[in-house]
Amino acid sequence: MKNTRIGIIGAGPSGLAQLRAFEAAEKQGLEVPEIVCFEKQENWGGMWNYSWRTGVGKYGEPIHGSMYKYLWSNGPKECLEFSDYSFDEHFKKPISSYPPRPVLFDYIQGRINKSNARNYIRFNTTARWVSYDEDTKKFTLILDDLKNDKTYSEEFDYLIVASGHFSTPNMPYFEGIEDFPGTVMHAHDFRGADQFKDQNILLIGSSYSAEDIGVQCHKHGAQSVTLSYRSNPIGVEWPDGIKEVPLLTHFEGDTAHFNNGHKEQFDAVIMCTGYQHKFPFLPDELRLKTKNNLYPDNLYKGIFFNDLPQLMYLGMQDQYYTFNMFDTQAWVARDFMMNRYEIPSKEERSKDIDLWLEKNNNLQSSFDHVDFQTDYIKELIALSDYPDFNLDKVADMFKEWLNDKDENILTYRDKTFQSVVTGTVAAEHHTEWMDELDDSKERYLFADEKEEALTEVETTTKAI
Ligand code: FAD
Ligand code: NAP
Ligand code: MG
Repeated sequence: MKNTRIGIIGAGPSGLAQLRAFEAAEKQGLEVPEIVCFEKQENWGGMWNYSWRTGVGKYGEPIHGSMYKYLWSNGPKECLEFSDYSFDEHFKKPISSYPPRPVLFDYIQGRINKSNARNYIRFNTTARWVSYDEDTKKFTLILDDLKNDKTYSEEFDYLIVASGHFSTPNMPYFEGIEDFPGTVMHAHDFRGADQFKDQNILLIGSSYSAEDIGVQCHKHGAQSVTLSYRSNPIGVEWPDGIKEVPLLTHFEGDTAHFNNGHKEQFDAVIMCTGYQHKFPFLPDELRLKTKNNLYPDNLYKGIFFNDLPQLMYLGMQDQYYTFNMFDTQAWVARDFMMNRYEIPSKEERSKDIDLWLEKNNNLQSSFDHVDFQTDYIKELIALSDYPDFNLDKVADMFKEWLNDKDENILTYRDKTFQSVVTGTVAAEHHTEWMDELDDSKERYLFADEKEEALTEVETTTKAI
């Protein structure tokens, strides 16, 4: 296998899952191919590697990160737990079900820090262009070493695209927006609610970003939050200070007009209008072209590019499941590259893709979406030796989570769930989420211990 070369683009959770999959095979005594992972940022973790920057980075590359200060997991951590590296193994004590970003970042790194994965990653390196030679059956990657300002190329037998798809904003136009006097930004550039304190803000969109940025701005002191939906409202019972209205039609100065006749003045507009799958390094014939959905077309098993299966994509689906889904994909991709898993003919693959697309088209409710992605992962898990976990129970937890959000959008993060990996029931967090204004790892993990220690000191002092 040593003369087989594998290139991975991106060291976010998906790219790291691929490195971990090979590490697991190596631990079983198998000879693994030569692997090189290219990461344009200075560190790994993808979205979880928070950047205060917006626009471009220090080498002029577009900023990848869309996460923000005070971001807490928006789903129970029990739904994304790695089945080969539990939260218990990492934190050594039960933690709550909805950790803040730095805590999840710590968890992702824990698993990979134990290996020599860093040696396989070239940081500050952007994959600039990919081509494929039909005769040699090899990919040529053109790479930019950003730090040293050097461009070079290398050849690979297999290519994994793990570059994520929540980075390039979808930015619609609304008449008159160019004359809006206040801040106009996309969720991709939102870095925290502080700047919107005491302001009246308008958020366009009705999905996770709109919901979470809206709630965060409310929590951190915005005067009012208005969410404008195109297709369906989020539809939960909003607290005073947040409301949902139909689609915006146009602006007149700082006044927004909506298609139900409502009009209102705003200080700022945040477009929570989603992202584009964008692969500026891939030529037309190798590029995945899709909207954000649960089963992108042309990917067999949601992984193998049907026209050329040596090219694989990880994590390109819309995501209920995240880290554990990327793992199940990476394990199957690994087995294909190590000749332990064979894929059928192109015709058979197309039939299989079509079956899934048809199922996807018939989904109605959010519960259907959860069941669909659960079935997809069940199929992948049967194909490799990634440790099995109780997917039916995870699906139930997702449904409970959806109900919890419907019940109270401000308190759902205070709920606890049980791990399907270890059976551990999550701890209740020391502070209710609405009162917790500090998202640091230090405070999250140790504030209660510190308080206990302080109480002990006080008690001892009193006794003396
Ligand atoms: P990414 O995390 O996007 O990583 C892709 C990596 O590829 C990046 O490091 C990037 O720098 C690199 N890259 C891209 N292009 C190139 C190139 N040309 N050359 C070299 N490197 C390149 N999921 C959850 O489970 N829970 C959450 O609470 C949650 N919150 C989220 C909040 C926001 C605002 C967003 C946008 C997403 C959130 N997600 C959440 C989903 C998130 O997409 C996944 O958790 C996960 O980060 C996806 O991993 P990935 O590796 O596929 O992509
Ligand atoms: P998304 O789920 O793709 O949703 C895009 C939204 O934009 C939809 O509501 C869509 O409306 C709307 N939209 C698109 N074009 C529009 C237009 N021209 N006019 C009006 N509305 C338009 O994207 P997202 O909400 O940014 O979520 C992306 C990812 O980030 C998700 O995986 C999510 O889990 C993650 N995230 C997590 C957190 C967290 O708390 N941890 C926070 C934010 C985001 P239609 O329904 O009409 O298409
Ligand atoms: Mg299996």
